[in-house]
Amino acid sequence: MSETMEEYLKTIWVLEEENIKSIRIKDISTALAVKPPSVVQMLTKLEEVGLIHYIKHKEVCLTKKGKDAGQAIVRYHRLMEVLFSDVIEGSNEDVEILSCGAEHFVTPDIAKKICTFLNHPDTCPHGKPIPRGDCCNGD
Ligand SMILES: [Zn+2]
Ligand SMILES: [Zn+2]
Repeated sequence: MSETMEEYLKTIWVLEEENIKSIRIKDISTALAVKPPSVVQMLTKLEEVGLIHYIKHKEVCLTKKGKDAGQAIVRYHRLMEVLFSDVIEGSNEDVEILSCGAEHFVTPDIAKKICTFLNHPDTCPHGKPIPRGDCCNGD
């Protein structure tokens, strides 16, 4: 999966988390600051690989597979935010830039190690819940 695809899945996952009833092209276009025709192009690609359902001119939703993938990226992003903000004590901008980059390189194994190192945090520095991982179930 490309980084752009991951950015889209993360964005749609967060829009669903925010309880936006029907997610439209303009919601994604605004969130990602990408022009609508490019959004449509990427959504078509994501639909082809079974990560989203896209009803033309209507709405977008994640498939089960897309939800799982989106949730994993959000988990990595928020774990990185905790790491870069609480441990590294980076500035707000640095935390955002580093988390947005690192989320694409984190593997499930690394995420587990970071999560355990951070003592399985519940929320990111913005107060958003961090999706639980396998490592978090034991506590
Ligand atoms: Zn956050
Ligand atoms: Zn954990």
